Amino acid sequence: MPVTDPDCLFCKIVAGEIPSTIVDSDERTVAFMDINPGTRGHALVVPRNHSRDLLEIDPEDLAAVAVAGQRLAGRAKEALGADGVNLLNSCGEVAWQTVFHFHLHVIPRYADDTVRLPWIPTPGDLDEIQVAGEQLKEQA
Ligand code: AMP
Ligand code: ZN
Repeated sequence: MPVTDPDCLFCKIVAGEIPSTIVDSDERTVAFMDINPGTRGHALVVPRNHSRDLLEIDPEDLAAVAVAGQRLAGRAKEALGADGVNLLNSCGEVAWQTVFHFHLHVIPRYADDTVRLPWIPTPGDLDEIQVAGEQLKEQA
């Protein structure tokens, strides 16, 4: 039996208590259509086990979600004629997470779609990039 949270929307979708359009499932994951799609075919992959976010999810569930995301990305190209795919995860409110059951967005991309990055890539300060990189390295 999966670990569930009785107050969680996505746990209820996994359990079939709330309707959804399920497009893929396996032992560890379920994928269903996002009801506010960024593009045609936008789906979400979730682990059957409840976990709040990227920092909490069991690594084996995370691996299974990634593989399911890859499967759906292939299908988006084959079945929907997508030209590319974005995989997206938001971890934390400040990073736009709104549902606190880990999920991976699988967003098919089309040459003529209007989706754009929310920032304009601009060269950063090289010293500051290095300092941040040093902070990110595993500390001994
Ligand atoms: P995030 O903002 O990254 O946490 O993504 C949550 C996503 O869940 C949003 O894209 C919502 O459109 C989607 N969503 C919310 N409720 C439902 C639902 N009942 N069925 C399918 N998708 C949903
Ligand atoms: Zn949940």
